[in-house]
Amino acid sequence: FHPNDNSISYTTLSRFPPVKLLPPANRKRVLVTGGAGFVGSHLVDRLMLLGHEVTVLDNFFTGSKTTVSHWVGHPNFEMIRHDVIEPFMIECDQIYHLACPASPPHYQFNAVKTIKTSFMGTLNMLGLAKRTKARFLITSTSEVYGDPEVHPQPEDYWGHVNPIGPRACYDEGKRVAETLTYGFHRQDGVDVRVARIFNTFGPRMNPYDGRVVSNFIIQALKGEDITVYGDGKQTRSFQYVHDLVDGLIYLMNSDETRPVNIGNGDEFTIQQFAELVRDLVVKVQQEDGVENPRRSDIKYEPMPPDDPQMRRPDTTRAKEVLGWQPRWTVKMGIEEMVRYYKAKMAEGSM
Ligand code: NAD
Ligand code: UDP
Repeated sequence: FHPNDNSISYTTLSRFPPVKLLPPANRKRVLVTGGAGFVGSHLVDRLMLLGHEVTVLDNFFTGSKTTVSHWVGHPNFEMIRHDVIEPFMIECDQIYHLACPASPPHYQFNAVKTIKTSFMGTLNMLGLAKRTKARFLITSTSEVYGDPEVHPQPEDYWGHVNPIGPRACYDEGKRVAETLTYGFHRQDGVDVRVARIFNTFGPRMNPYDGRVVSNFIIQALKGEDITVYGDGKQTRSFQYVHDLVDGLIYLMNSDETRPVNIGNGDEFTIQQFAELVRDLVVKVQQEDGVENPRRSDIKYEPMPPDDPQMRRPDTTRAKEVLGWQPRWTVKMGIEEMVRYYKAKMAEGSM
């Protein structure tokens, strides 16, 4: 807010987390598409605390107004219901383009819509960046590497994607979104940043969105069987959401226009991960005084088609050009998330 704006009193602002007072020249007008989703809401928190003006654009398909409702009414914050497949005009300095469902059940629910979101949504936001001369960052994904034949995956690996399988709407959607991004960069000089994000978890992940971390924690907290798909030998590397938000902000404010992997190199088989989550849920419950918490069993369900066999980021570029590396261990992050879901369950909000 403007320091000379007398209509805003400090008393009114005291109900919000304290935001930095930036001089107008340093305060950016930031558009966050998908800002009501899991990653988006954490990014919005950080940008708000840093003192920027933040506009969230979201159609609330997988996101929820509640993830950012603590900012509603703050003079630096605005939330707009909008589907990015339609054009949108706003004056802004930076665009973080996140809008796209990220969990396999959600993005496969309406594959055609997912492709439209990736293609038309990115086209519209790049058009906006071109018109307003805003810097544009897209949250791409490790899925552009598909079921990789190179391990770990560096940014110069071209990938191994089945273009007609059930995951293609997301994988190929993001690949074409990257192609569009570099098209606008080369043809129109749009200032672009491309983050290739690896599996990320943390509070505010929709508990029922079907991704492995939320599924396992909720199942273990309820004492239900943990569902491992296939034989559990496939691997993933998990990063905590605060590390990702650091990486996105560093990348946006760097000079790096090439794609940058952002992920944690801590790789687990899904079987190991199920056991880790089960043990940590029991530990947290014991620390909270629950007597004899139930230790979930592990049950095996069919492997979904085209499920990548292994995934681990090569983060050399992020270290070299951004000075970024993850600070949260998977164990620390899981404990935080268990406590978050436990509190939500206790208050009856999930
Ligand atoms: P999410 O599903 O929680 O959030 C996506 C947000 O985008 C939601 O708020 C949703 O309502 C909104 N959205 C979807 N389609 C839209 C549309 N057509 N118009 C406007 N808004 C729309 O997912 P997330 O985990 O927060 O992922 C955010 C971004 O990060 C996505 O682009 C995703 O592809 C990328 N990413 C995430 C991960 C991860 O592990 N979380 C990994 C790789 C990439
Ligand atoms: N998975 C699992 N049980 C679940 C959900 C997922 O075993 O309840 C597996 C899934 O088959 C994949 C891995 O966990 O091998 C990660 O799945 P997720 O949907 O979280 O993300 P992906 O990396 O596949 O997009």
